Amino acid sequence: MQIINPATEEIIKEVKEDTKESLFEKLELLRGNQPEWQKVPIAERVKVLKKFSDLIEKNIEDLALTLTTEVGKPLQQSRNEINGARKRIKWLAENAEKYLSAETMTFEEGMEEKIVYEPLGVVCNISAWNYPYLVGINVFVPALLAGNAVMYKPSEYATLTGLKIEKLLKEAGVPEKSFQVAVGGREVGEQLLDLPFDGYFFTGSYKTGKYIYERVAPKMVVCQCELGGKDPLYVADDITDIKAVAAGTADGAFYNNGQSCCAVERIYIHEKVYDKYVEEFTKEVNSWKVGLPTEEGIYIGPLTRKGQIDLLTQQIEDALRQGATLETGGKRIDRGGYYFEPTVLTNVNHDMAVMKDESFGPVIGIMKVQNDEEAIRFMQDTEYGLTAAVYSSDKARAEKILEQINAGTGYWNCCDRVSPALPWSGRKHSGFGATLSHTGLRTFTKPKAFHLRS
Ligand code: NAD
Repeated sequence: MQIINPATEEIIKEVKEDTKESLFEKLELLRGNQPEWQKVPIAERVKVLKKFSDLIEKNIEDLALTLTTEVGKPLQQSRNEINGARKRIKWLAENAEKYLSAETMTFEEGMEEKIVYEPLGVVCNISAWNYPYLVGINVFVPALLAGNAVMYKPSEYATLTGLKIEKLLKEAGVPEKSFQVAVGGREVGEQLLDLPFDGYFFTGSYKTGKYIYERVAPKMVVCQCELGGKDPLYVADDITDIKAVAAGTADGAFYNNGQSCCAVERIYIHEKVYDKYVEEFTKEVNSWKVGLPTEEGIYIGPLTRKGQIDLLTQQIEDALRQGATLETGGKRIDRGGYYFEPTVLTNVNHDMAVMKDESFGPVIGIMKVQNDEEAIRFMQDTEYGLTAAVYSSDKARAEKILEQINAGTGYWNCCDRVSPALPWSGRKHSGFGATLSHTGLRTFTKPKAFHLRS
């Protein structure tokens, strides 16, 4: 398999993909050792994962450069991702004992009622490329903390990062036989679906998630899907600093080139602040530096996948055909690599693909609305349900709106953020189940009820 630098289209490296046989051997290794890892006291497992965090801090420059070279993310955003990953590991490690240890629920008249959180066994993690540290760590860190063995399949677009993660986990003390990497793309993913894992944890697109969910259903094991989004953001008429809101929300839409599952993908603006907001938003977008992601100060690098250029072009053409206005951008940038102009469309509506289908790139549609009710109606008009954001000076007003949106996360005066202390979960086509928080630690366990009469 060739690893390609999306900024230059050069081949960085060739790696050997796993085969049906090698995957089977890796699974056997994991299966054989999982009971041993489960026996390691949880405090020890916590120590190992904390060491892993120290190692990624120590190697941050090398890891960031590898990430940037294979996914095209600006170097500073790669460093940000790794630092964010460390915060997640810290929270998960510090809370593991509290949420994974056995709990005595009642002790009455000689009867003890207790819950023991047993690991699932050997779990399979099929992952995405857009934040390989963050979305990977959401799964394999709590899974290992809970005593599982893990087969981790990084995306084919983040393979080198996946292999570096493996090396550092082993250096930190995760046994060779408790963590294995499956190298490859869709076909290797398919082969993993054929193997007898005790749980499947998938991060990726709705299309693949739906397929995986259906394929593994007959196995009757846990299957969790963290999928895409079409996340809406509404700016109410009572905001005071339109310029700051425009800049902050533009970042929410375009950070990582819009390739975030919780990127702002649709914007609704109250008519009283609409004109000024669009002006400031477009000004902000036009101020960004586009270029090689390895150069300091670059905000927009290349897209990770070449194929996305066609999808974005089609969405824009469809919108313009139906009467949208192009405020800025609109096409591929004429240079080597998979570059696309940050694009702002106004006069959009919900008949246009750009307001319905995930763009996963630097393209945003902005729509004028008359009031909160209209904003809620549009925000709810989606097949997805990952996050939703409201900007307003009035917390109660924002919360009232967010309560009516069927999404796993609600933001007031912020967007495009994830906290390790809170559950990360989608609804509808954005998936089901949760990672992070106490829920995301227990996701990787089977609770066993003990009724113990003395
Ligand atoms: P993708 O669905 O194309 O691929 C994801 C993974 O699935 C890859 O490892 C890929 O090799 C594997 N795969 C592909 N086809 C397969 C098959 N038939 N069987 C088994 N495995 C298969 O997604 P992507 O392009 O890597 O990621 C982008 C998508 O992920 C976006 O939709 C984004 O919103 C979503 N995402 C969601 C979250 C979240 O937390 N909700 C986080 C990051 C990304």
